[in-house]
Amino acid sequence: MEIIVTSPWTPLEWIEAHGLEPRGVWGLPACDRHALAEGVCAFAQRLRALAGTPSSQPMIFTTACDQMRRAADAAAEETATKVFLFNLPATWKTPAARRLYHQEVKRLGRFLERLGGRAPDAAGLWSVMRDHDRRRQAERARASLEKAGRTASRGAPLALVGGPALPGQPNLCELIEAAGGTVALNAAEPGERGLLPPLPGPQTGRADPGDPFAILCDHYFDHIIDVFQRPNSRLYEWLGPRLTERRVRGLVLWVQVGCDLWRAEAMSLREAFGLPVLVLESTETGGGFAARDLNRLSAFIESLR
Ligand code: SF4
Repeated sequence: MEIIVTSPWTPLEWIEAHGLEPRGVWGLPACDRHALAEGVCAFAQRLRALAGTPSSQPMIFTTACDQMRRAADAAAEETATKVFLFNLPATWKTPAARRLYHQEVKRLGRFLERLGGRAPDAAGLWSVMRDHDRRRQAERARASLEKAGRTASRGAPLALVGGPALPGQPNLCELIEAAGGTVALNAAEPGERGLLPPLPGPQTGRADPGDPFAILCDHYFDHIIDVFQRPNSRLYEWLGPRLTERRVRGLVLWVQVGCDLWRAEAMSLREAFGLPVLVLESTETGGGFAARDLNRLSAFIESLR
């Protein structure tokens, strides 16, 4: 059975170790093109619409923002889809926040068991964790090869920063490159920002590498790089060295219309890194991009040359 995951901060390994198949919402086929209800983020709307499709698989929402919570409530109340709302701690500096994250992963396990999953033993969980670790390593290698190819293209190096990009929405990397830029860092979703670093345990080669459940939970908890946490300094600490190392000259901030969280970062990003920021907003859940936005993108890239 597939389980639809809507945030990079839900441990996929935990789902898979229960014998179920995690599937990121980003890779699902595009939904019908439709104008958005006022003030509602396109991503949250897309999740609610997905839950309403007759063949929908169980979905894991998170408490990352109010829009997502409301989408989860609506999906649970108005559709037959099984919904789990994962309480992502809004802070990360306290032991209580870490404990909450561990408890939520345990609670998710009980939800998965109710769906027919089996609780994994330590060996089973390690095996899935190592496998995901290898896959992430391959993904990092692929991203770095692509980056090298793009760098060779000599377009103005840009960072794409922001929230989720949906299938059917414009392919921003392609648009940026077509306009003469190079995506030197993709920090939208899905992208490098959601790619966890290597796990600490499996590489050590110790006879007893430790409790996989605790290691998995800590690993995710320690690497949530996102806009919703307070303080959200980890986002800036993650971006800083990468922007310098990749000689980024400008930021394209991708914002789902109605997403106040990402939109509010525009000024802080500008001030923190001293780089120009272009805000691009989605206006619909599917389809193209307004000509006006394409012109703004081209003019922005032109100004960086
Ligand atoms: S895009 Fe913004 S408003 Fe929408 S679910 Fe994500 S954080 Fe929330």
